[in-house]
Amino acid sequence: MAGTEEEKTMEKIKMTTPLVEMDGDEMTRILWAMIKDKLILPFVDLKTEYYDLGLLHRNETRDQVTVDAALAAKKYGVAVKCATITPNAARMTEYSLHQMWKSPNGTIRSILDGTVFRTPITIPSIKPAVRSWKKPITIARHAYGDVYKNVEIRVEEAGTAKLVFDGANQHEEVVIHEFQGPGVLQGMHNTDKSIRSFAHSCFKFAVDTRQDLWFSTKDTISKKYDARFREIFDEVYQEYKSDFERLGLEYFYTLIDDAVARVIRSEGGYIWACKNYDGDVMSDMVSTAFGSLAMMTSVLVSPDGKFEFEAAHGTVTRHYYKYLKGEETSTNPMATIFAWSGALRKRGEIDGLPELVEFGNKLEDACFDTLNAGIVTKDLVNIMEGVEPTPVNSEQFLKAIRANLEKRLA
Ligand code: NAP
Ligand code: MG
Repeated sequence: MAGTEEEKTMEKIKMTTPLVEMDGDEMTRILWAMIKDKLILPFVDLKTEYYDLGLLHRNETRDQVTVDAALAAKKYGVAVKCATITPNAARMTEYSLHQMWKSPNGTIRSILDGTVFRTPITIPSIKPAVRSWKKPITIARHAYGDVYKNVEIRVEEAGTAKLVFDGANQHEEVVIHEFQGPGVLQGMHNTDKSIRSFAHSCFKFAVDTRQDLWFSTKDTISKKYDARFREIFDEVYQEYKSDFERLGLEYFYTLIDDAVARVIRSEGGYIWACKNYDGDVMSDMVSTAFGSLAMMTSVLVSPDGKFEFEAAHGTVTRHYYKYLKGEETSTNPMATIFAWSGALRKRGEIDGLPELVEFGNKLEDACFDTLNAGIVTKDLVNIMEGVEPTPVNSEQFLKAIRANLEKRLA
């Protein structure tokens, strides 16, 4: 890139605070370097604090690099992350790992105490399966507790099941069920602290993205457990009420079954906060209905307003093995580009750098220009309507975006 015409003549956009850059694995690592090279470095005087979260380096540092990267995100407030391998038995052999290191996303989420917001990137030629949806729907999933931290008993005979709590001052015991014969039993919990963090992240993200917030539980049936979620959301809302009113936003609570029905009838354009299980189930439904995993972005937001941007998809292993064999790949970089644009825009907003904010917007516009002209990666070919798609490989796709970006910046 050095020495090209535009590099000599164009002033690069300045940054003041570094972005925390978390590199990753496989195909997305390849795309990562290409995106920086072709779409960012020629235009932005990029400042990053770089952490290599590639599995080899995580293994070499005994995963300390993941912790360091998360702490840096906490310090600087904005991070951009590439997809990373979560090791399993097969990866232990493939990478000769010392240990089956934990999911980096899990580690980062627990250090930042954050909530994950998943939003589809929508374009006119990819129609959602639900006809009424006109705008994206963002799902916020509470990522702690409930059935994901449960304990279970397989009951084999008649007997009494009890729920018992033993505290310094509070002692409670209730009968769950008098079993007459075999059955199943489950105990789960959540904490006020975690629910409160979840609520703060949701209200912050709603204000930040200027969207209504919906929240749903089953508090008519679960009069203490789910009701506690509702109460905490109501309390936390009081802190954001004036911001919501000023921006004309709505906080809307309803029962989960009513919410499901309303979501299907809605136009979209809001955030739907879900309890852990509801979010698990609904995010797969909503993302599939919007079209493609390759067009889904993900932002981790901590209750004190730190942001980590990434793609929702993984490292696209199947494409990477083809790439290693020297075969051409048509992996979609959209979600990874949007992680960069989102992070740069957020950095610009926090640091008061309108040019950087504008660059984030224009980079996204250039992506839309490209897709709307029908230039697409292979995954999108069969889901586009009303545009004659021209399938290209990843490199050609990025080149087309670059040309549109130069036009937008001219
Ligand atoms: P994946 O990487 O999301 O890919 C699954 C399939 O979805 C791909 O084989 C491809 O389908 C399609 N796909 C996903 N992203 C695409 C893109 N950008 N462009 C085109 N097609 C795309 O999921 P996976 O294969 O289950 O997982 C691979 C690795 O990623 C695993 O090691 C897992 O631990 C990791 N992972 C990381 C994260 C994260 O860091 N946030 C999230 C999920 C998974 P076709 O093969 O049909 O083309
Ligand atoms: Mg799931």
